[in-house]
Amino acid sequence: MAARPKHLKLFIVTYLHISLIFLNVFMDATDVTWDENGYILYCPCMGRFGNQVDHFLGSLAFAKMLNRTLAVPPWIVYRHHSPPFTNVHVPYSEYFQLEPLKQYHRVVSLEDFMEHLAPKHWPHGQRIAYCFESAAHRSQDKKSCPMKDGNPFGPFWDHIGVDFDRSVLFGGLSFSSYYQPHWIKRFPPKEHPVLALPGAPAQFPVLEEHIGLQQFVVWSDKIVQEGEGHIRNLLNRPYVGIHLRIGSDWQNACKLLNAGDTGPHFMASPQCVGYDRQTALPLTMNMCLPDLTEIRRAVKLWVKNTGAQSVYIATDSESHTTEIQKLFKSKVKVVSLQPDTAQVDLYILGQADHFIGNCVSSFSAFVKRERNIHGRPSSFFGLDYPEKKKRNEEL
Ligand code: GDP
Ligand code: MN
Repeated sequence: MAARPKHLKLFIVTYLHISLIFLNVFMDATDVTWDENGYILYCPCMGRFGNQVDHFLGSLAFAKMLNRTLAVPPWIVYRHHSPPFTNVHVPYSEYFQLEPLKQYHRVVSLEDFMEHLAPKHWPHGQRIAYCFESAAHRSQDKKSCPMKDGNPFGPFWDHIGVDFDRSVLFGGLSFSSYYQPHWIKRFPPKEHPVLALPGAPAQFPVLEEHIGLQQFVVWSDKIVQEGEGHIRNLLNRPYVGIHLRIGSDWQNACKLLNAGDTGPHFMASPQCVGYDRQTALPLTMNMCLPDLTEIRRAVKLWVKNTGAQSVYIATDSESHTTEIQKLFKSKVKVVSLQPDTAQVDLYILGQADHFIGNCVSSFSAFVKRERNIHGRPSSFFGLDYPEKKKRNEEL
């Protein structure tokens, strides 16, 4: 091909650049135009952040499956022990960018939906709740969806400014892809433009086929800046990041293991024992609730393996900084923050040169998924080599 003169190339590049800027502006404007294919709204009403992200990934896949726009809800942050003592509703975009989600599927923030679309297309008087018959049976009249019953349900929809006018019940369906045609036939968008659900249309833990959707969950600039600031100021690379999930609520949860009630699949454990029940590894107490001996063993091993200069400890309660520091004298710097936003811990763990997580915790699972996408190594307490090598990975 004949070489173009340099200035022509520059012209084309500049032209493309300007067009892209216009396209962006245009696309931003279409965010808040009505989608005839309909919407999915839901409350992330189960569990704290890790659970909410698992549910978010499944909901994103569900919205794509029904070809409806997903109204991305705010995160619910529980403040039972510190001001303001009521739930805080944090817009998705405080922690993550909304834009990258659109590479996968159409989304709009629930806040934008309410501000720009609801007044005209989902007005008062036409706000229908959709739920399983079984959920409605728990209500007083046995035919209303329990959209605002109790915490966090009531405060969530109050925060959004929604009261529901009536309910539509369904049965014989689930959120799995098998039921796609059933959903589409049962709820055509013309008659049912906005499917508002009491909970996420998704499973916990996240299905294996949806783990990769984590790639579209990209940190906001604010979290990146805060996290990078801490890494720069406090840590020397290489550093090992560890997640200690050892607080009293977790001690109680892990007791179920001793009772023998759980089997290998317990909360987020498929991430380390394997999703297939037939071949799942046994789930041990050290995988759920590592004791200090196991914490010391794993940290020592991975500091040695990676030649780490620092250890970053994220914890739900105690950090064991002193005990861990003792393993290394002063050669390795052991650091723990008490960040006001848990997301800063998640960010720093995500950037570590090696991560040791808790197999059963969905908080750890967030870090593990993010690291997998970027090809960063992870292991778990109680299980150093979690993933059986797949044949094609060895090629
Ligand atoms: P899971 O219960 O471990 O599956 O994860 P969840 O995220 O659902 O609930 C645990 C919650 O405890 C988190 O959302 C945080 O609020 C808090 N938490 C647990 N571990 C940590 C940690 O290492 N750092 C911080 N800052 N908070 C944590
Ligand atoms: Mn939890």
